[in-house]
Amino acid sequence: MENTQKDWIIKCIPVNPIQMNLYVLYQKNGKGLIVDPGCCEKSEFENLFSFTEKEGIEIEHILLTHPHFDHLMGAARICQYYERPLELHEKAAPLVEGAIRSIETFGLPSMECPKDLKILQDKECIRMGDVTLETRYTPGHCEGSVCYVWDERSMVFTGDVLFHGSIGRTDLPGGDLDLLRKSIFERLFVLDDGFTVRPGHGGRTSIGYERYNNPFL
Ligand SMILES: [Zn+2]
Repeated sequence: MENTQKDWIIKCIPVNPIQMNLYVLYQKNGKGLIVDPGCCEKSEFENLFSFTEKEGIEIEHILLTHPHFDHLMGAARICQYYERPLELHEKAAPLVEGAIRSIETFGLPSMECPKDLKILQDKECIRMGDVTLETRYTPGHCEGSVCYVWDERSMVFTGDVLFHGSIGRTDLPGGDLDLLRKSIFERLFVLDDGFTVRPGHGGRTSIGYERYNNPFL
């Protein structure tokens, strides 16, 4: 049977003490991609690896929304396991090492730096079968922050830019509230109300819901 657009499945796996949403977008016995490889505990890596094994997923891309430790702490091991580079915005790349180094200051186990990075530009498309995700540069929560827009399916992975009823914090290095609001208004709110938002923390929402109800916007 031929796979069609309908067969794509999105699995959300909250990982690490910050409960970051790791997403696997995949077809059973087909291709897949990971958004934000933030596994921390041994059991979290094992669960991810056994899940993709059980579902027969061949991981083609490992994408990063932004270079904060809770989103990339498992990148080295996950990239090594699937033999894929970590794909990230060009302004995120120089911040990876510092983010990995910061992990220990949070009392978490030290992690290796992912060695193989693939640079993405604003508007660059990531393709996998009939899926096309557009990289959309959305700074403000931190430098090098992007969202991934899946137009055909009216879905956007927003990392820590936009949450259900909230927005990303701007008190960390590179944070800028005005810039974050500009990113949301000019780069996310140009999407239709029906777009599903898959954030980096918490449950899903929609562009329409946030446009009319988000108290920070
Ligand atoms: Zn986060």
